[in-house]
Amino acid sequence: MLEVLPKIAKMQASYALGKTFALPMNYTISVSYRCNSRCKTCNVWQRPNDDFTMEEYEKTFASIGRDAYWFTFSGGEPTLRKDLPDMVESAYRNCRPGIINIPTNGIQDNIIPGRIEQVLKAAPKSDVIINLSLDGIGEKHDIIRGVKGNFARAMRTYAGLKALKGRYKNFSLGVHTVISNFNVHEFDSIYSFVRDELKPDSFISEIAEERVELDTVGMGITPPIQKYQPVIERLQQGIRNAEFSGVSKVTQAFRDRYYDIVKRTLVEQRQIIPCMAGVASAQIAPNGDVWTCCIRAESVGNLRDHGYDFRSAWKTVKADELRRSIKAGECHCPLANASYTNMVCHTPTLASVATQVGKEIVTSPFSQGRADKRRNLTVINTTGAENTNSTLQA
Ligand code: SF4
Repeated sequence: MLEVLPKIAKMQASYALGKTFALPMNYTISVSYRCNSRCKTCNVWQRPNDDFTMEEYEKTFASIGRDAYWFTFSGGEPTLRKDLPDMVESAYRNCRPGIINIPTNGIQDNIIPGRIEQVLKAAPKSDVIINLSLDGIGEKHDIIRGVKGNFARAMRTYAGLKALKGRYKNFSLGVHTVISNFNVHEFDSIYSFVRDELKPDSFISEIAEERVELDTVGMGITPPIQKYQPVIERLQQGIRNAEFSGVSKVTQAFRDRYYDIVKRTLVEQRQIIPCMAGVASAQIAPNGDVWTCCIRAESVGNLRDHGYDFRSAWKTVKADELRRSIKAGECHCPLANASYTNMVCHTPTLASVATQVGKEIVTSPFSQGRADKRRNLTVINTTGAENTNSTLQA
């Protein structure tokens, strides 16, 4: 994990000075819009397909090189692509990422565990995190995801993936829930089911967003803060009451901070910490369009027009324009993927997490239970002025 520190320093310098000292450390590769789900929170499957070939990915990853640290292979449903393990192998060989993250709907229960095993073999020294999407229990999941029998198939996929755990030390199995107006009232039972029955290595929830990429703008899927806040605070309480060790302690501390940021973004309608999309994180659409993020989904250039040279697409006039707009705070959102990179690159958040984890390591042998804690979430607005008066009740 320490190898990421020099990359963070380069990201911070690039953001502060408005120059590209290094390529992003976090890449989301949307490998196809094809999907066998029909979710109420996503219309991406209706988009036309013009997917990159394996050869195109090979050239692209070669151009990105070792600045990368974190890859997410998303979609659509990424496991529908038979060559997913080849893409992972290409990214691994060219970029050596520390983390590879792949979400799945779990529908192809007879194919996914085998395909993921190939992925694990292709990237033996990366931490590979597979997140199963779960938006409800039983029939409710099927209704939200628009596929009859999805829940039963997802559970079989989960069992198949769990069976891989003993064999691959680089494998973490997670569950991911999108909290929308369709399930916010049932979130507690989803959380209990995941914690008590599935027992994954990690659980992350993300608020349903209206995204250009997903063609969901104006659909009214995002729950209001009045409904979202109480459920997310119970989830945070669960995180704080659980005992974690090692890297999980750090991961959960960031997760807790992330949920604070989401709540405040919804209330204050601004960037709570500076967004470094366009500097530290980037997304590549299935047709090779390069975006700063999937919320704005504005192409800075297409890799096919730039000879598959990521750096060339990343240094266009349009890319500079977008970076200026993001830094000026002209957009805000709670996108999880960008938020985690933002937190890692935000020195006050990093310091606050380090202090919290350090204190817990020192005090945990002596603590009887875990009392509620108050802590500061340092706020920096997008013009750089700092406001440390914002204290959230944990
Ligand atoms: S704040 Fe959200 S919409 Fe704006 S650049 Fe960052 S991730 Fe994209």
